[in-house]
Amino acid sequence: MAERILVVEDEPGISSFLSKGLEHAGYDVTVVDKGREAIRQIQDHVFQLMLLDIGLPDIDGFGVLEHVRGQGHKLPIIVLTARTSVDDTVAGLSQGADDYMSKPFRLEELIARVRLQLRKAHSQSNEADDVLEAGPIRLELRTHRVFVDGEPIELTPREFTMLQAFIEHPDQVLTRTQLLDLVWGFDYDPGSNVVDVYVRYLRLKIGMKRIATVRGIGYRLDVD
Ligand code: CA
Repeated sequence: MAERILVVEDEPGISSFLSKGLEHAGYDVTVVDKGREAIRQIQDHVFQLMLLDIGLPDIDGFGVLEHVRGQGHKLPIIVLTARTSVDDTVAGLSQGADDYMSKPFRLEELIARVRLQLRKAHSQSNEADDVLEAGPIRLELRTHRVFVDGEPIELTPREFTMLQAFIEHPDQVLTRTQLLDLVWGFDYDPGSNVVDVYVRYLRLKIGMKRIATVRGIGYRLDVD
């Protein structure tokens, strides 16, 4: 599956330049031109990276950064700043951006930075990902073995991937759309109730109370 990049940029010339270039480089690109829309996209979907303009018409890039990091999203964020705004750059990095590009920039340079950030994020998650633990649950990714309270349990591959998605998003409520994205991939019919069905299967195996329903939003892993 192609890696997904969210481009947040209100100048149509720049955003179309970016989306064409990134798509050509093999990425799956979503473009929005407002801060509020960016926040909504991050809440509803899974992206591997965000390119974020600072000057936006509603909530500016700093506001988006603060919100997205405040919600615990760890995706790499590259801030796009105007050439002269050194202050913007410093502020952006201190608020959780991973890198910045000053406008105007060359596409090749941007794509190199994007690749670097994606590689970094990937290797960080690989190191941490060999064994995942949450409370009494232990997932061994290489062997696909699962233990609850030290007892081995059998999960189907989908159940395993769903449990992994919950553990990789600790304390976060995952919406049905996010779970569809993470477990089934993007093209799944969003009207399907497959998420609810699999949450039920998973509860039967790991303990009914360990996945909490957050009414109107989705589900959260609930382990102490
Ligand atoms: Ca702008």
